Amino acid sequence: MIKQEIQNETEITTTQPLPADRLEAMAGWGGSNSGMAYLYRPSTVAQLRQIFDFAAQNGRTIGFRGGGNSYGDAAMNDESIVLDLTRMNRILAWDPENGRLTVEPGVTLQRVWEYVVEDGWWVPVATGTAKITVGGGAAMNVHGKNAWKMGTFGEHIYEFDLMLPSGEIKTCNRNQNSDLFFAAIGGFGMLGCFTSLTLHLKRIYSGLLQVEALTKPNLSSTMQWFEDYMHNSDYLVGWLDAFSKGKKLGRSELHRGIYLKPGEDPNPQQTLRLETQRIDPDIMGFFPRSALWRFQRPFWNNFGMRFVNIGKFSMARLRDGAIGREPHAHFHFLLDSLDWRKPFGPGGLIQYQPFIPKETAEEAFTQILQLGQQRSLPNFLTVMKRHRPDPFWLTHALDGFSLAMDFRITRRNRERMVQLAQEMDEIVLRANGRFYLAKDSTLRPQVARAYLGEETIKKFLALKQQVDPENLLQTNLWRRLFS
Ligand SMILES: Cc1cc2nc3c(=O)[nH]c(=O)nc-3n(C[C@H](O)[C@H](O)[C@H](O)COP(=O)(O)OP(=O)(O)OC[C@H]3O[C@@H](n4cnc5c(N)ncnc54)[C@H](O)[C@@H]3O)c2cc1C
Repeated sequence: MIKQEIQNETEITTTQPLPADRLEAMAGWGGSNSGMAYLYRPSTVAQLRQIFDFAAQNGRTIGFRGGGNSYGDAAMNDESIVLDLTRMNRILAWDPENGRLTVEPGVTLQRVWEYVVEDGWWVPVATGTAKITVGGGAAMNVHGKNAWKMGTFGEHIYEFDLMLPSGEIKTCNRNQNSDLFFAAIGGFGMLGCFTSLTLHLKRIYSGLLQVEALTKPNLSSTMQWFEDYMHNSDYLVGWLDAFSKGKKLGRSELHRGIYLKPGEDPNPQQTLRLETQRIDPDIMGFFPRSALWRFQRPFWNNFGMRFVNIGKFSMARLRDGAIGREPHAHFHFLLDSLDWRKPFGPGGLIQYQPFIPKETAEEAFTQILQLGQQRSLPNFLTVMKRHRPDPFWLTHALDGFSLAMDFRITRRNRERMVQLAQEMDEIVLRANGRFYLAKDSTLRPQVARAYLGEETIKKFLALKQQVDPENLLQTNLWRRLFS
């Protein structure tokens, strides 16, 4: 059916508008920006190619969209075409002996882990939500709570097929079309569309992780904890109280996860089963997690959040040092059972996540946290992770730390928030830090140039010119930073 529609549409000349019934409102995950675009949802490579031809003939641009989980404008293309790839969602091959999986780009991380877990495999890099697609994860080169150890998502991609704007499909791996391999991973959909991707998964011997929880009284001890434990842990993540000040600035609750070794789980057949991993939609068997936001909403302001943060830290102190075993899906994806955006209200949120080298991180994070407090714009949720560098051209990764901060946006604070982001950008650049396009809503072209470097940008633009000479592939993010 779509083929027929597109054939009809390709007969329209460039001056014709796109079909009004395809016009849809679209927003980034944070909900702080929105726009309208013409949405197409191909389910085969042939349909994808037809839409490319159709857009080229009509002088339109195309932006890709996976699960729509990027916080800002990365998967938006106002007034032009957006290709939602979630219908290209077939599992193409699975080798449970070697953990090698080939999928179409619209397969979600949730589908991946559910498909492989009973065979004793897990996703090597898990983001804070399992709703992302493999294509969207590759295009942003996402990371998890094990980023210092397992690196970014791209490091576990063996090979992919990329459809270029010409309709040609290139197979790319570390030896074949390697420039495209290292540039399209993290290349935010600007070089072509992933049409299939082959991943190496992670072997596990139990459906449970050993998880240890503890607290630290300030930023310095929080960061030292990562350094002390990175050699003998599989996951490390910290939540920070962004309202704490003075000697308590950066106090935290930390979680450390360790895989169980063969023999440590007496009943792996049971713990690897899907029902063990599934998160109960109700708290204590009766209260739906999805309704929790109604209770959170009255506290989601500067005043209320101060108490929420104090309460969360105090509760964490009570379980300081606790060690237990948790299903993998609970450890990684608990947020998926809550509606995390709703308490932020109609203005939504932006996330600001700088990556700073280990040598300069403590000073820079101190300045950033203090600045938010001085401007009366503290962030409501603050998450710290440890990272390592990777070989991808537009990478955010480095040997250091990141701090992901959720800021509530209202009509009254939007302007001040943009100013705060610009002030924080200066701190990050002075500390030789980097940014992450999946989370970004506020960067300016000069900041992108400064952190990526002129050489890298020139190299990327030259490759884009080669594979996309008409600039068919664009998004709002692309136009904001690079066009
Ligand atoms: C609650 C939450 C928690 C998160 N936690 C983390 C985290 O822990 N770590 C982390 O790194 N990120 C995290 N993220 C960000 C998220 O992982 C990234 O934004 C990811 O790219 C989203 O994937 P998606 O499928 O939703 O893609 P979208 O957001 O829809 O698109 C992302 C980019 O991929 C491009 N794209 C999509 N499909 C294709 C394709 N087939 N070919 C080429 N380009 C394509 C789009 O054009 C866009 O530029 C989180 C997001 C949320 C909402």
